[in-house]
Amino acid sequence: MGIIPNYAYDSVFMITPGFLKENNIGALALDIDNTLSPYSDSVPSKETVGFIQKLKASGIYLFIVSNNKDARISAFAKTLDLPCIYGAKKPLSHPTEKFILQNGIDKDTLCVIGDQFFTDMWLSANLNVRSILISPIDTSQENAFIRFKRILEKPLWHFSRKSLIKKGRWNIATVSR
Ligand SMILES: [Mg+2]
Repeated sequence: MGIIPNYAYDSVFMITPGFLKENNIGALALDIDNTLSPYSDSVPSKETVGFIQKLKASGIYLFIVSNNKDARISAFAKTLDLPCIYGAKKPLSHPTEKFILQNGIDKDTLCVIGDQFFTDMWLSANLNVRSILISPIDTSQENAFIRFKRILEKPLWHFSRKSLIKKGRWNIATVSR
């Protein structure tokens, strides 16, 4: 826990039901932008739909936590048939905490998945739950604020890499940070 992730992957699609079960992860709080889909996709790809269906079928509870509020996010949640916290104010935790309480989610088995330290990983620290860092799909479409945060993130990527490699939990081959 804390801002340093528990696991890191090149892509969200590398996460399997088997891995989640082995690690006692029964619920996932999923980021959309640059984690499940690039900013340029207005609807989830077939691969994303298949991935979500596979996890759902294996009994994993999934929900979306996005700071984004636009119609695109609602369309994603609808297509994937997932509950969604919009305008989640990550890294602040109260909107997600409220959802967790309302839905009786066990925080011991909850894991936050996302591509940014100062929203997703920090949210997991504030919730005191585990986290999985995903290498962002396409940073070229990020706005100036996110690009600025990417600069501040660099030491955290390096530190996480060092720390997770030792534990065999760093599954990012192509790191350009
Ligand atoms: Mg993101």
